[in-house]
Amino acid sequence: MFYAEKYDKVHWVGMNLAEMESVLNQMGEPKYRAKQIYQWVYKHQINKFERMRNIPNSLQERLKARSEIRSTVLNKVTSNPNSTTKKYLFTLLDGGSVEAVYMKGRRTTVCLSTQIGCAVGCRFCATGTMTYQRNLTAGEIVEQFLYLQNDNDSTITNVVFMGMGEPFLNYTNTIKAADLLNDKNGINLGARRITISTAGIVPKIRRFTDENHRYKLAISLNGTSQENRGQTMPITETYSLDSLMEAAWYYWQNSKRMITFEYVLLSGINDSKADAKQLKNLIGGLPCKVNVIPYNEIGGEYKRPTDEQLQIFLTELDHARFTVTVRQSQGTTIDAGCGQLAVKTTEENDD
Ligand code: SAH
Ligand code: SF4
Repeated sequence: MFYAEKYDKVHWVGMNLAEMESVLNQMGEPKYRAKQIYQWVYKHQINKFERMRNIPNSLQERLKARSEIRSTVLNKVTSNPNSTTKKYLFTLLDGGSVEAVYMKGRRTTVCLSTQIGCAVGCRFCATGTMTYQRNLTAGEIVEQFLYLQNDNDSTITNVVFMGMGEPFLNYTNTIKAADLLNDKNGINLGARRITISTAGIVPKIRRFTDENHRYKLAISLNGTSQENRGQTMPITETYSLDSLMEAAWYYWQNSKRMITFEYVLLSGINDSKADAKQLKNLIGGLPCKVNVIPYNEIGGEYKRPTDEQLQIFLTELDHARFTVTVRQSQGTTIDAGCGQLAVKTTEENDD
């Protein structure tokens, strides 16, 4: 009931300046009001009309009657013992839930979700085991950022679209959200501090290239041959590994920006010396980075490799032409590591 009522309202987060102008125009208000509200919402990041000091009370009242600043409700925050990582659970207008993760370190990075569930169904990923429900709106994506920023003192320096969902299957809203995060008149996060990670939706990688977006692109490789990748990532049947590598080359040749390949290391699946060799062959001379992510177990059939196995794999990559980094996920104790986000049923959350 509560949520049904909210459906009728306009929500300001998610709108760009032109959209705000159009809403205010319909209310018979001058254009400059849009700029003022835009700044309150994205620059000062307030969540109450009363705090819009340069908006007359009468207009504040009219805004309250027909609109809300944010549509999402922050439901729960879970932190790990040393509190460098926190997981946020949100409830959306339709009752759906999503999670976002805050990680404080040398940089302060937040990991945002783009969909409720994920239809790609990678076999090693907790989100992939949930049923896919829907795309998030640009507003629902940006609101995750705003809530996390509000709740923490240190300024968020980086955003990664690596939470629940496949950003390139929600392309328009993800790009719109990134544009809102990037806008220098609003949140003002540098384009190179925003990373979009895709499981390999080939036509969207090409579109992203053609549209010349400056956001960083990451591709989840996770396998070294059609067969090896297909075993854990069924999407490889739709978009072959060859076509994915061609799209990666296309991106490099047109943008001259380096892709980061994510490579989740799964014990006995893709972590042998031979796999490392094959990875070098696959990438060939493509200028890129490779981010090796030791698997975060989710209680299924896949296991994290031992440190020894990780070293064997990395040693084989010692003289690779690309840079190799290792991501030790933070937040695994609170299921906030990479690929561990999955909203459990209410009963499970309650215990
Ligand atoms: N859908 C996008 C972005 C979200 S997943 C994508 O797949 O790229 C973000 C990253 O987490 C991906 O590189 C994915 O391969 C990795 N990942 C998924 N499950 C994981 C797990 N259990 N442990 C470690 N990394 C995982
Ligand atoms: Fe979806 Fe990414 Fe998880 Fe695959 S790894 S199921 S694409 S969220």
